[in-house]
Amino acid sequence: MNRNMWVYLNGSFVSHEEARISVFDHGFLYGDGIYETLRAYAGRPFMLKHHVARLYRSGAMIGLRIPLPEEDWPGLIVEALTRNGLRSEKPQQDRELGDAYLRITISRGTGDIGLDPDLCPSPTVLIMAKPLIPYPRHLFEEGVRVSIVSVRRNLSTALPPQIKSLNFLNNILAKREATKGGFFDGLMLNAEGALAECTASNVFFVREGRLYTPSLACGILDGITRGIVLQLSREAGLIAEEGAYSGDALLRAEECFLTNTSMEIMPVTHVNDSTIGSGHPGPITITLRERFHANLSRFLT
Ligand code: PLP
Repeated sequence: MNRNMWVYLNGSFVSHEEARISVFDHGFLYGDGIYETLRAYAGRPFMLKHHVARLYRSGAMIGLRIPLPEEDWPGLIVEALTRNGLRSEKPQQDRELGDAYLRITISRGTGDIGLDPDLCPSPTVLIMAKPLIPYPRHLFEEGVRVSIVSVRRNLSTALPPQIKSLNFLNNILAKREATKGGFFDGLMLNAEGALAECTASNVFFVREGRLYTPSLACGILDGITRGIVLQLSREAGLIAEEGAYSGDALLRAEECFLTNTSMEIMPVTHVNDSTIGSGHPGPITITLRERFHANLSRFLT
């Protein structure tokens, strides 16, 4: 970390070097907490309301009351960007700025050792903002290789993937398996063997001109970029279907891509040892990426 970062910690902005979190924080001890990852384009946050709404939904699902009203978040996010030189006071100067990566982390807070959330009187609230390091251009031009990993997505009845939880080990184990095999990422199946999602992104595929993506009922995160891609594809007159699909259906696909806030739409050209379509990013993937960029300003604050 060679650049000072101003972080918001429990009510005030401090330098990251001064920011301290207790060793008794239950986020650290038990992974008890929630988070959101956001992106800002030249100082303007992407889908801010949706990210904040999802944060509150995650909080409600684990009984964690966020100690700030929902209306305070836009101001805090803007301040985190401005203090870190990622947004200027004058919007006309922002065009020169690069994009930013933001992370909101809210843990159960500090309390004695023990699982009971009541041991923690108040949550720890942290906001970080830094320049976004974009994925290398060649990945978007050439596409990436993913593997279907043996690690299954958390069972919804055990730890619902709808909670953006600080306990990310399910995804980390999947990521390790994929990267050890030389793949960009790992695609997880759910307990029933249907396609679920990658370790930090949603998956789409194309067959005979139709777009397919696992439904939320498959036990996946309700990705905000996924929602935008579904909206844009329907606006473009594409048929987009959400359902339960096998890994084999994906291997027979003509195109495949991943979506998340920081990579937007990433083409996938190989799954395991199989080539998807021509082995190059497909026309529907490329069109959707273009439409995403052409429509971006609709989704910025
Ligand atoms: N699935 C998982 C498990 C994720 O962690 C993420 C993003 O972090 C996504 C999907 C994509 O979500 P979004 O488009 O809201 O970034």
